[in-house]
Amino acid sequence: MISVEEARTLIDKEVIDYGVVERPLALSLSHILREDLHTDRALPPYDRVTMDGIAINYDGSMAKGLLRLPIEGVSAAGSPQTSLKSSSSCIEAMTGAMLPQGTDTVIRYEDLKIENDHAEIMIDTISKGQNIHYKGEDRSQGELTIKSGTQLTEAEIGVAASCGHHTLKVCKIPSCVIVSTGDELVNIDIQPKPYQIRRSNVYMIQASLQRYKVDCDLSHINDDYPTLLSVVKDHLDNYDFIILSGGVSMGKFDYLPKVLQELGVTQIFHKIKQRPGKPFWFGKSCNGKLVFALPGNPVSSFMCTHNYILPWLKSCLRLSESPQEYAVLQKDISFKPDLTYYPIVKLMHSKGGVLKAVPVNNNGSGDFASLTEGDAFLELLRGQDEYRANEAYRVIRYR
Ligand code: AMP
Ligand code: MG
Repeated sequence: MISVEEARTLIDKEVIDYGVVERPLALSLSHILREDLHTDRALPPYDRVTMDGIAINYDGSMAKGLLRLPIEGVSAAGSPQTSLKSSSSCIEAMTGAMLPQGTDTVIRYEDLKIENDHAEIMIDTISKGQNIHYKGEDRSQGELTIKSGTQLTEAEIGVAASCGHHTLKVCKIPSCVIVSTGDELVNIDIQPKPYQIRRSNVYMIQASLQRYKVDCDLSHINDDYPTLLSVVKDHLDNYDFIILSGGVSMGKFDYLPKVLQELGVTQIFHKIKQRPGKPFWFGKSCNGKLVFALPGNPVSSFMCTHNYILPWLKSCLRLSESPQEYAVLQKDISFKPDLTYYPIVKLMHSKGGVLKAVPVNNNGSGDFASLTEGDAFLELLRGQDEYRANEAYRVIRYR
């Protein structure tokens, strides 16, 4: 049995680059960018009028006390740049228009009276240069705007669109199947018999991976040795990696470690000094396919997904690392076994901005209903029996 740190190191060694694909921008949300994106033009690309009103030459009008200016014309957004002929007159200019040549200040309609082709300035608090968004003020031409390794949100989609990136190089998504095992498990759309339960784990794991656009297929195998052997073999041939749920503990019908061994999948580890999730089995087939075999208890498989599989997946997808979060435990926890303990916690910020973790009442690793009350697991490393309120611990968030 190995420690959580050793398990992380062993999984880290199996990070695989599944490659890069080009996707249409509109279908790239939540995908992970695999190229640096640069601006093709300055942002903004020209001195942009930011208010509907008039553009003036400040020194030729306001500075001389001229407040009633003849209007020479109109500059609309989407029209070529106009030019002010006389520095003591003005041009009506709309938001988004290029600032007319010879002007340097924009006054909004709300501060004007427009009458008989003249604009009368009604306020005396105009500053030279106001209401203009200058060319290149935000980004210069060719500047890096979005780094490779960014998971694309709506913000990046907008910036990429504006720079003309209509397709993006993003991570190729590996294929995966999540397999539930167990004779007691039935599909979620049927009424279980008194001795049966619905196979909820696979949906929980599938949803967790969807955060990174990995769309896993689902499959089920009963606790039957020959069937396990043939179906798992099939999955190893057809998917980039596989996740199994259940059948890796000490039970009489927990056949998976033996099945995997018979299929030539090398065991990298079996069992981690942790609760929940102790029986976690991890290995690699001779054709390089990784197998994550999680214990069937729903909280165990959920914790192992968030603590091990998602970090591995993020590394495979070359996702930039986000800073590790810590939260201050709010209640003493006593935990005697020589295992790293992962209690479910509710997270909240104090008035002072400190992240606090309140343990959620829970009836063990079968009690997945309590996951809905929490936001994260807290990592209480083994080596002590008492974990005190006011101490800070690592957070593994699922919400
Ligand atoms: P196992 O790891 O196969 O010994 O299963 C441990 C416990 O988790 C048993 O009570 C199983 O019924 C339950 N379990 C296993 N797989 C699932 C699943 N896919 N969904 C919900 N519960 C499960
Ligand atoms: Mg089972």
